[in-house]
Amino acid sequence: MTVSRRRFLQSVAGGAAAAWAAGPQAWAFEPVDVKNPLGSYPQRDWERIYLDQYRYDGKFPWICHPNDTHMCRMMAYTRNGVMIRAEQNYDHQRAGDLYGNHATVAWNPRGCANGFTMQRRVYGPYRLKGPVLRKGWKEWVDAGCPPLSDHPELRTRYKFDDRGNDSFVRMNWDQVFEYMAKALVAIAKTYSGPEGAERLRRDGYEPQMVEHVQGAGTRTMKIGSNLPVHGVVGKFGIYRFANMMALVDHHVRGVPPEKARGTREWNEYTWRGDQAPGHPFVHGLQTSDMDFNDLRFSKLVIQIGKNLIENKRPESHWLNEVMERGGKIVDIAPEYNAPATKANYWISVRPGLSDISVLLGVTKLMMDRGWYLEDFCRRFTDFPLLVRTDTLKRLRPQDIDPNYKLRDLRGKPSYTIQGLTDEQREKIGDFCVWDTSKNQVAFVSREDVGKHMNIPAALKGTYRVRLADGQEVEVLPIFEMYHRHLADYDLETVEEISGAPAHLVERLARDIWETTQAGHPVSIHIGEGINHYFHATLHNRAVYLPLMLTGNIGRHGAGGYTWAGNYKGALFQGSHWSGPGVGSYVAEDPFHPVLEENVRITKKHLRKTADVEDPSYWASGERTLTVDLPKGGPRCFTGKTHLPTPTKMIWYNNANFINQAKWIYNLIVNVFPKMDMIVDQQIEWTGSAEFSDVVLPVNSWVEFEDWEMAAA
Ligand code: SF4
Repeated sequence: MTVSRRRFLQSVAGGAAAAWAAGPQAWAFEPVDVKNPLGSYPQRDWERIYLDQYRYDGKFPWICHPNDTHMCRMMAYTRNGVMIRAEQNYDHQRAGDLYGNHATVAWNPRGCANGFTMQRRVYGPYRLKGPVLRKGWKEWVDAGCPPLSDHPELRTRYKFDDRGNDSFVRMNWDQVFEYMAKALVAIAKTYSGPEGAERLRRDGYEPQMVEHVQGAGTRTMKIGSNLPVHGVVGKFGIYRFANMMALVDHHVRGVPPEKARGTREWNEYTWRGDQAPGHPFVHGLQTSDMDFNDLRFSKLVIQIGKNLIENKRPESHWLNEVMERGGKIVDIAPEYNAPATKANYWISVRPGLSDISVLLGVTKLMMDRGWYLEDFCRRFTDFPLLVRTDTLKRLRPQDIDPNYKLRDLRGKPSYTIQGLTDEQREKIGDFCVWDTSKNQVAFVSREDVGKHMNIPAALKGTYRVRLADGQEVEVLPIFEMYHRHLADYDLETVEEISGAPAHLVERLARDIWETTQAGHPVSIHIGEGINHYFHATLHNRAVYLPLMLTGNIGRHGAGGYTWAGNYKGALFQGSHWSGPGVGSYVAEDPFHPVLEENVRITKKHLRKTADVEDPSYWASGERTLTVDLPKGGPRCFTGKTHLPTPTKMIWYNNANFINQAKWIYNLIVNVFPKMDMIVDQQIEWTGSAEFSDVVLPVNSWVEFEDWEMAAA
């Protein structure tokens, strides 16, 4: 039956009229008179659930320290022994050193959503609760670890070429340790000596890599940690194990202790691309970073490719404090990112290396307009040092006086504080500047800085100098060189290269100068290293130029900084007066451990048997940088100090290492089948565990049962 629209409306209207005719019920219009609705609500038991959920019967402080370098102090609340929630602990000011120095309250609050939900990780479905072995790998060990290079078909039988599709077998710790020990000894034996080298060649590794094994099968093992400074014992400790593998080499090859070799140690700072490679160029430090509390003193904070708000969440409050204290924030980034929304102005740049041109344009402008502190440049930078225009090398005192003897700096801070050695002193040498008061060259050493630099050295101009051999050459200060070099970076060109509006580049230069003139500090914060910037070396160096011009180095709130964390291992490095630092633990001579409690460990107790290798060679398919030259055949550009060895075993902790590797498909298909053992130490089951042979669960940072030492 079809109903027309008209008919339908008529019937609806009829229905409504019928309902009206039935009369409205009085109760439907009378308000309910309840004096206290909550008092008479029929069922309120459910409220207990949420009223109760914050109840706890225990609590303990803990430090959150995943591979993100923040190390926030948190408080865990427990009920019946189960952690139910985490909160910021607001007690960073209690952290202090042996000398009584304490952090400021300004460090509070710290923490982020990841830390607040740590209990979900601890009790979550992916939590590793016991050690497991890959089934095929276990069978290989049960078969006596037959050399896989001799019988490549075994790689298929035991699924070395199909990791990720195998299953895992749960075993107890003692059993797992036994399997691992057997495999480690077998791998060391298999790849030691000429027979081992032959196997490696058969597996197709480059000859120079095979040679670099130097006969010790232990050197085909790679052991590493990620951000080990977050636990000297729990994470760094794995390097002690790498060093102790010399005991296995001694046992396997029968070599005397002094010839026994440990494994290769995988680093991670460069592997992740976190290292800012230009920093050592500028000041010799691996990385320059500030105590973040210092950020509060900055009156002009320039962030380049850095996002404290979204990526460094516990640190974002420092920007609030800059704003509260009247500081300016400038954000340089391709996208209008979170820091840009909080900045006084945002300078948009093309992605890639274009922000280098912004920094060079700023520098040129400041040099052109005289926006620099001559005295600072003279006393604290290398701007006055003379360079020969014929060789483009520094003019050295020996060029002028062949009998020149290096200044004796022993007893000076270079030796007493910075630990300079005679060999380094020899290499660094002395320098020349142009003394404008005498109109001649003057010799200076690295100690002639600050108040010790009293020569009115020229920053500009060119000068002629007669050398010891009678030749006359032209020289010029580094400042003059930069000024000439930057001639191309006028505002229009900078805008063309970078897309950064010229007026904003000019405004930035002016802001740096005016902030400096007002006596306030300026800081530039960049995000890490080559993972952020193409040509990071150039970028890092360019960052320092405006700061050097304006003396914004070495004072609270000023400076050029990156942020990574890995380099903070240096906090545990030794000095001649403090002892070997973390080396006391990781590099103790495995053949002569110090067993007496009260002996102070010195360098004489150490013996490094393991040496460092960058995992990047493994990650790029187990290759050195070898190029087939059009003339002269293949040539290896990887220096001797960086040569990798073939990888037959990896063992690492504190990262989802395989998951984070680049070119993972190549690794899984071409590299993994040739590897005999992969050990993964994890809190949770991850993508890395999926492709490992041995997976060892670890305590998370809320479950520590002993003291640990760390830094952030
Ligand atoms: S930032 Fe978050 S995840 Fe990182 S240490 Fe702090 S609370 Fe933990």
